Order: sequence, then C-alpha cells, then structure tokens
Amino acid sequence: MLARRDPYQLPGPTAPRRRPPRRDGRPSVGALTSPDISTPRPEDPVAATGPLHPLTNRERNQQLRTYDSHVKGGFDKIVDVLKRISALQHEQGFEQKAQALALDALGFPLPEHILARAWVTQLDMRSLFAWCVFETYKRTSAAFFTSNPLGGQEDTAFDAFIRECGFHLLDVSPCADGRLAHAISYALRLPFSSVRRRPYAGAMFDVERTVARWIKTEHRRHREGVPNQAHEDTRYLKVVIYHFSSLDPGHQGCAAHGSNDAQAARSGLNRLHDFRQAVENSFCCGASVTLLLLGLDTDTDAIRIHVPTADGATNPDHWLDAREVYGQTVAMAPEAAREVIGERVRQDTGGSIEEGMVRFISQLLENNISQIDFVRQFHNGAYGDAGHAERFIGVGIGFKEIHLRNLTYFAHMETVEEGATDLDVGIRIFKGLNISRGLPVPVVIRYDFHSSVPGSRERAVRSCERIAAAVHGRYRTLSRQGLLHTLLTVRDGDHYKPPEVLGSSLQSPVVEVH
Ligand SMILES: [Zn+2]
Repeated sequence: MLARRDPYQLPGPTAPRRRPPRRDGRPSVGALTSPDISTPRPEDPVAATGPLHPLTNRERNQQLRTYDSHVKGGFDKIVDVLKRISALQHEQGFEQKAQALALDALGFPLPEHILARAWVTQLDMRSLFAWCVFETYKRTSAAFFTSNPLGGQEDTAFDAFIRECGFHLLDVSPCADGRLAHAISYALRLPFSSVRRRPYAGAMFDVERTVARWIKTEHRRHREGVPNQAHEDTRYLKVVIYHFSSLDPGHQGCAAHGSNDAQAARSGLNRLHDFRQAVENSFCCGASVTLLLLGLDTDTDAIRIHVPTADGATNPDHWLDAREVYGQTVAMAPEAAREVIGERVRQDTGGSIEEGMVRFISQLLENNISQIDFVRQFHNGAYGDAGHAERFIGVGIGFKEIHLRNLTYFAHMETVEEGATDLDVGIRIFKGLNISRGLPVPVVIRYDFHSSVPGSRERAVRSCERIAAAVHGRYRTLSRQGLLHTLLTVRDGDHYKPPEVLGSSLQSPVVEVH
C-alpha cells in the first residue's frame, strides 16, 4: 500500500517565510558580550537616511537591485501561485486552467503528469513546489550565462589592477552561509570571473585542495606565462571572509562558530596560517602567499578588514571598519575621500604595509561603500531577512552563476562523506525554512567539468549520480516523505554557457543507498 502523502496542500498564510521585525538599529539588550565598534548605535556614522556617499556607484546599485529583485521574485511567488492552483484542482478543466495560470504568473508550464494525477488522489503540491523551484533555478542559471546580468565574463582592467597591487590570483573563501553568497559581486564588488570562490561552512577552507590550486597556478605561470610570467614578483592572495551580525551578534552570527565572531576571525586566520605554512614547508624558501582576513556584517554588508603588515602579520582582534571609513569620508569630494581612505589603511598598521596592499584594500573599502549604500537605499540600512532565507541548497562544485544573498546555501564537496557536516547544517536550516511549512528541501547538485580533459564530463555525471544517491540515502526519511528533491546538473567550465540538466528525483525514483 502506498504511503499516504499528506497534506496535499501548502501551508496557510500563517506560515510566512521568516522575516524578523524591522529593528531600530540598536543592539539587542544583553546580546553583546564585548564592546563591538561595528555595532550600530544612535550616533552611527552610517544613518539609514540621508544622501549617498560620493564614492557610491548609484547606477551599479540600481542594476544590482533590479537583478536581485527579479531573481528572488521568481522564487518567492511560487508558493502563492501553487496555492491558487491548489484551489482549482476539483474544477472542470483544471489542467488547462492550472497551466494558463502557471504560464501567466511563473512564465513556464507545469509538468502534465503531476497535474493529470490530481483527480485520482489529490494534487502533489510537494512535487510541484520542488519542480517549480528547479525550473526557476534553471531559468535563472540560463539567463545568467546568456544575458550577463552582472557584467561581462572577463574584466581585463581588474586583472591588471590586482597584478599592479602585487597579486596574480585572488582566491576567496567565504562562509557557505547563503547570507554571503553575494560577497564577491555585491559586498566587495569584484568581477566574479576574476575571482576563485570556494565557500565552506565557517569559511574553513580545505588546505590541501588550496595548496593543489596554488601548485596549479604557479605551474601555469612557469609553463604558459598565465596569468603572468613566473619571474614577475606577484603572489597568490588567499582571502577568508568570516561573518557576524552587528544587530543580533549572539544569534545571527556564523552557526559554524557558535555566533562567536572573535572565534570566527581567529579560526579563519588559523586556517590561512596553515595554508601559508603548507606552501612554505613544501616548496622551500621564496615560495609564499599573501593572506587577507575579512569580516562581513550580514545585517549591513559592511566589511571589516584585518589589515596585514608588510611582514604578513594579521591581528584577528583588530580591524578597519568600512562603516567608520564611510562616516569619515561621506562629506568629502570623491578624490579627497579616496586619499583619506588610503591614509587610513596605511595608518592602520603604523605604516608597515606594502603599497600594493594599500591600493587593494582601499579599493575594497571604496567598493564596499557602494554596498553599504545599497543596503541603506533598498533595505533601510539593515536587511529584513537577518537570518537564513535561502531558496535552495547547492551541493557539489561550481555554481559560478549564484551571486545573490540568501538565495543558496552551499555545501561544497566532492564526496558526501567529506561534506556531510556542511550538508547537515544545510538540511537543518531548511527544516526551519521549508519542512516546517510542509514544503520539501530543493537540492541542486552540480559538478563542473572541463571538456578539454578526456572523460571529465563522464566523471562529473557519475559524481552527480553518486552524490544524489548518497543525499537521498543520508536523509532517507525526508526523501520517502517527498520532503527532499534533487536536481542533477553538470557544466563545462571551459565554456561560458549554462549548466546541463541531467535529471531530477521528480522524474524517476532515485536509487537509495543501503
Ligand atoms: Zn557562517
């Protein structure tokens, strides 16, 4: 006998996506354990109203806002449309009416085989929801590669800029938390194609894999002179972005570090040191890397920069706060503001800093000023979704096209064993976001491959299938209840084109691992 799938209907209007009430900008009473200079206060230098900063790129802010609203709007209207369709299911001509409504409101038709079964039992809303999330993801992904909503795929001016600053590769590990998914393109305003991004829970990146990437990078410099000649005096720059919440530090910080931002910063710095030591121990004198530790306030998107000294020392307990820099320069002309920013960076280490690093950090601060204004312009100074509000989990390696805050929780992994902890955190987050509302957890599995490497695509396909089976096996109960669905995708990293969809758990029963 088939297990009866309750509830055939989506939750009522009493279960909205979690949106904490708008805060007044003051820290929660008793939430602070230590003084925190980034905590907004009544005399906050960055008020939610007032003119924008002279260095803010207004046009770019508007473009980024339009893209963010368009994509998230596509995901967020799914529940309402499905509720309207659910209400029609016993009417004459249901399938035609449902398709017309879906096409009109969502822009795509629904799978006929699910609609056709509605008269026998009832409409399978869980499958329909997962199907709509996957369809919206596919369309978002395809549009990213075909219409370049965040700008072109290459930015040679930026590549030249980082080389002038003394770096030949920018490798960034933010936390996998969806509130940092926009860190590169929004918070730091860096061209995504010029940055290697590898998110990990707690920003605890894999040292061995990063060393392997470093070797590959240096090897290419020797063999091909790409991105520059090996004899040029530039370094591999490894950046960690941890995060914290200025408005609710005890609850909305990094889950992987127990919402303790001092611990998040120290752990990030330790991991950076491990990486540098691994390179130096393995490749002798002269072989080294540059390290940079950043913190991101997930309420305001303002960054903290732990400015390193010329000899590579970083203090996890001291930082330069972009909000302070904003407040100090908001009334200046653009050129004067730039000068002051550069001077602040130099002073932060008592003058012991390489000039290339001053230029790079100053640019990060200037870019972040635009993002601080973005949050002021469109989110009243602090995001309404202070906590998790991701729309799907992304598992695997890739997702070059995901650059929006709270769209995706990343679980970066090659095997489920190595990524189990990250994935468990993701499932726990979605128990609160979706399962509590009777909705399934949508998991997009993705493996990138290189068509220039023989057999690479086949290996990526096998990885996808293996991970899908392992995910359904690990969360078997959810899977059997129709509360977990997977979409399998691969993408050719040698070409700038959308991922290829291999299939999903909605099409055929997924083989369980026993
Ligand atoms: Zn985190």
